[in-house]
Parts: sequence; structure tokens; C-alpha cells
Amino acid sequence: MSVSEKVGALEALEHEIAAWLEANWERNGWTNVVFGEGDPDADLMFVGEGPGADEDKQGRPFVGRAGQLLDKQIAAMGLEREQVYIGNIVKTRPPGNRVPTPDEAERCMPYLIRQIEIIQPKVIVTLGATSTKYLLSDPKIAITRERGKWRQWQGVDVMPTFHPAYLLRQYTPDNRRKVWDDLQKVLERLGLPIPGRA
Ligand code: URA
Repeated sequence: MSVSEKVGALEALEHEIAAWLEANWERNGWTNVVFGEGDPDADLMFVGEGPGADEDKQGRPFVGRAGQLLDKQIAAMGLEREQVYIGNIVKTRPPGNRVPTPDEAERCMPYLIRQIEIIQPKVIVTLGATSTKYLLSDPKIAITRERGKWRQWQGVDVMPTFHPAYLLRQYTPDNRRKVWDDLQKVLERLGLPIPGRA
């Protein structure tokens, strides 16, 4: 697919999801659909869990506190936010920021899969247990054990790491180092330079 075909396919999918949610999704307090954003032709895609309050207000993924940390992580990788693609498992804010139910996640997964199939990233970073679990269809995943280890999803390399919101809650040097280790592996896999390394 050319870049302009990807742009068109993502736009069409965004409309399709909005219509599907309108018709089939419980109106349990959310205001905006958060489809995802970024370079439609990105080599690197981040997948989170679902929108929070700030994301719901703005209709954009990762724009609250966790998003600001993700922005810093992307910058530390020597990349711009606009160069990557950022999506979520569920496209509307779960009430009170609860974890999406298995039913919600599974109903939304086909749309995330189609997003990935259009973008065709080389590497997907799953942020936290929820996105890792549903993308890899592995309900027993423990993120503390699985992060930092390469996995595969339909031929795409997947690197699970901690969710930035978890990192904010447990902002220890050890956790920060672990996430940076994971992101360095991603840069290596993408053939990109690791900032700060001679
Ligand atoms: N947390 C997520 O998992 N996704 C967002 O878009 C924002 C916060």
C-alpha cells in the first residue's frame, strides 16, 4: 500500500469504527472516540490500553500525564511523536479509567488488527499488561516477566514494556532502566542509532 492509500484506509476505518461504536457501544460516560494517531507509514507503533480522561476530552491518544511520559520516551529514542503511530486496544474511555473488560477488548481487537495491517509497522511496543495480553492473545501474561522479551504477532516483532502510567506510579531507577533497556532493543531492531551511546 502506498502512503496515500494508507491514509485513505485509516480514514475509512476511523469512520467505520465511529459508526460501529455509535450503534453498538454502551454510552457509559465517554465523549470522544480515540482512534489513534501518528505516521500512517510508521515503522514503530505503540499500543496502549484505552483512553483516559484527557484523551477522552481531546479525542487523541496519550495526551495526559502518561502521554507526556511517553512523549519523553519517544524523544529519548531520538524520534518525534509524529514519526510513530500510537493506538489503543479500546477506543473509548472505560468508566472511571477501569481496565477494559475482556468482552470490550475482544470486540475492539479486530479494529486494532486492521489498523496494524494498514500501517504495517516493523515493531510494535505494547504498553502494559492489557495491551500485551490482548494483542498476543495470551491471557496469563505477567508484564513483569514478559517485558523486555521479543514476541511475534503475525510476523511483526513485538516488545512488551511497562505502561507509562505504571512507571509514573513506580518511578524507580530500576523501572526506568528496564523501560529504557526495552526501548533500546527496539531501536536496535529498527536499525536506528541509540542516543547517548558512542
Ligand atoms: N493510557 C492508555 O493506555 N492509553 C491512552 O491513550 C492514554 C493513557
